[in-house]
Amino acid sequence: MSDAVMERIRELKAKRNAVILAHNYQLGEVQDAADWVGDSLELARKAAASDADVIVFCGVHFMAETAAILAPDKKVLLPEPSAGCPMADMADAKDLAAFKAEHPGAAVVAYVNSSAAVKALTDVCCTSANAIEVVQHFPKDQEIIFVPDKHLGSYVARRLGREILLWNGFCPSHMWIRPEDIERRRKEFPDAVIMVHPECRPEVVELADEVLGTGGMCRMARESDATTFVIGTEVGLIHRLKKENPDKRFVAASEQAICMNMKKITLDSVVRALDKMDCQVTVEPEVREKALGAVERMVQFG
Ligand code: SF4
Repeated sequence: MSDAVMERIRELKAKRNAVILAHNYQLGEVQDAADWVGDSLELARKAAASDADVIVFCGVHFMAETAAILAPDKKVLLPEPSAGCPMADMADAKDLAAFKAEHPGAAVVAYVNSSAAVKALTDVCCTSANAIEVVQHFPKDQEIIFVPDKHLGSYVARRLGREILLWNGFCPSHMWIRPEDIERRRKEFPDAVIMVHPECRPEVVELADEVLGTGGMCRMARESDATTFVIGTEVGLIHRLKKENPDKRFVAASEQAICMNMKKITLDSVVRALDKMDCQVTVEPEVREKALGAVERMVQFG
């Protein structure tokens, strides 16, 4: 990254009293320019605790919305307003309301990868880091609707040995990782620890050594004595893993697991966002009021 661009970002951050949060799947140069790099849960907590006036959220739309729900007194900027999450778009609030009406006793657990309108219909939100803990919190005989990720929901159901009503959503980027990719990597790197994200399809999850969110993968890479890791998630995480563990080796389970929405944000778009301040993400007050409890409970878990 050029020194001039970094200097411009520093100047604008000071002028706006801004903080830059970047998700683990962002481009390497964006991660390097951020104050904090993390998973959805870590970044939601940072947004809630920050005393900055402006949060530049380098991620996708639902993440900026979640920050706006938790920090309504701050301006949350999404440097590329078209950076959405196809999985979040698979759950529509009207459809969820109709499904809830068919299951009047059910509690709704929404993966944080969902719109604010869906969160407003939810009892508790969760991330991949705390989904098991959140569902476990409900009595065994409580019917649960899990929205929108069927793969994360079915992983939680299998781990807890309980039935969950699953929404039919999924992450297209994680679908690129196939069982044959894991089998190939296993042959190529027999000593490697194979870590996959629970957004992967169940046949992939079954072949892995560890099933972890991105924050969990970073911890495992740091703490494990192993020196080679196969990473079954969006390839952007490998930048952070290499930076934090320069003596270890990280190999993508599939080079095709790229989220094009995450890659829309560049350093130039961060500069433009801080300069123009024209890409604020807001949540309607009545939606925010309904979603806040579910999001706050998510931040408290795990
Ligand atoms: S990686 Fe998948 S779940 Fe994450 S933002 Fe991209 S499409 Fe959505």
